[in-house]
Amino acid sequence: MSTGFMEQVNRQFDRAAAFTRHEPTLLDQIKACNCVYYVSFPVRRDDGTIEVVHAWRAEHSQHKLPTKGGIRFSLDVSDDEVMALAALMTYKCAIVDVPFGGAKGGVKIDRRQYSKGELERITRRYTFELVRKRFIGPGVDVPAPDFGTGPQEMAWIADTYATLTGGEVDALACVTAKPLAQGGIRGRTEATGRGVYFGIREACDSADVMKALGLARGVAGKRVVVQGLGNVGYHAAKFLQDAGAVLVGLAEFEGAIAGAKGLDVDQVMAHRRERRSILGFPGATDLKQSTDALELECDILVPAALERQLTADNAPRIRAKIVAEAANGPTTLAADDVLRKGGALILPDLWLNAGGVIVSYFEWVKNLSHVRFGRMQKRYEEGAARRLLDAVAQSTGKQFTDQQIGYYTDGPDEEDLVNSGLEESTVSAYHQIREIQRRHGADKVDLRTAAFINAIDKVARTYEEMGIFP
Ligand code: NAD
Repeated sequence: MSTGFMEQVNRQFDRAAAFTRHEPTLLDQIKACNCVYYVSFPVRRDDGTIEVVHAWRAEHSQHKLPTKGGIRFSLDVSDDEVMALAALMTYKCAIVDVPFGGAKGGVKIDRRQYSKGELERITRRYTFELVRKRFIGPGVDVPAPDFGTGPQEMAWIADTYATLTGGEVDALACVTAKPLAQGGIRGRTEATGRGVYFGIREACDSADVMKALGLARGVAGKRVVVQGLGNVGYHAAKFLQDAGAVLVGLAEFEGAIAGAKGLDVDQVMAHRRERRSILGFPGATDLKQSTDALELECDILVPAALERQLTADNAPRIRAKIVAEAANGPTTLAADDVLRKGGALILPDLWLNAGGVIVSYFEWVKNLSHVRFGRMQKRYEEGAARRLLDAVAQSTGKQFTDQQIGYYTDGPDEEDLVNSGLEESTVSAYHQIREIQRRHGADKVDLRTAAFINAIDKVARTYEEMGIFP
């Protein structure tokens, strides 16, 4: 078995556990990955040849069910990687009060090497293998997208599951981030990036935090570098840009570009679609290597591609004052030490990128309740607000304009409610973590450690209340 990423997560866990008073056996139980399922299966390529595909699903903790976590398609997938990512999911769900255990799946392929038909065959066969061993189901384990997967794969998974379990009324709740017509929820696609933005905005609004970093309050005007313009990176960049941040560097696997005056992320994406590369974007400078972008002078660095991008090797050259971990595990332990000693603030993955699982939780609830959020109350609330306005108008003699009436009476639709729930969960989790940090002293406990302490306490409470551990 390979080692590395899981060990890194466990060392972060141990560092935090030292600040808690839980029984060592209970801590061992929380830390352990409960089960890992490895499977290999043959897939027919379009040219008639057969290829053997290797895949995993790890369920880290069943202290709450179902377990939850994405499925990634990547050549780097291994038992170690899915276990580490599943562990991060357990802690992440606890931190943002999503009642799930942690899981993660991975299929060892480079999706760019396969046609759509081949990807469909791989996804459906992988789902079949999960169903066979009960590693998927609305009350068991609920996957979502991750690196290299998206709503299309989720739709294939939902369809395969529903077909194999014929007639199960809650079948669509077996996976989240589905397309809308397949039981998806408005706001899920951009949820992780939006949550990353909410988290960065909240940190940038903390006067004491900004003062310590020598930065002005607020997101507007902050110079930002984003690595990875996929689902998470693109949306995070877009929300930051819309809030007035200046994108001074963007990195993709084929290369990176820099532009001190700001790079419009939508124009860069359009350029990339047309040229199949972000390089050569008008007005920007091409960097020698993609990873050079990480070392650009900036206020906020957003790694949003893969794990272990900031290492002992490049950390001394990272000039960002804030590292916002949109990806999972982008900072190695050694890099974390170097960056913190250098005075940087790290916004940890297990809180910052929880937006996806928060909104996935809403989607799961929607699928189980079989009704769209807002459908029952939107008109009722609009009517109640209108009656209130009428009463105010009558008693004051003031006439409201149509625009004012619209503003005061507009009831929430699904997307409004989803975004509001996402913002509330992200912001309140930040303040819980900050409170833990204050209690222990910011010189002893960084935000990552505080987030781990928060997660450990919450998972421990569940086990303690089950009566299994003293
Ligand atoms: P994605 O596949 O949509 O995007 C990843 C992007 O990174 C792609 O555009 C890819 O080309 C680019 N990339 C790959 N290697 C790179 C490299 N070496 N340098 C620069 N760019 C590179 O994946 P995603 O869903 O956006 O996930 C990205 C990260 O965010 C992963 O760590 C994932 O675990 C994490 N995450 C995703 C979600 C989610 O909801 N999708 C939720 C939480 C965390």
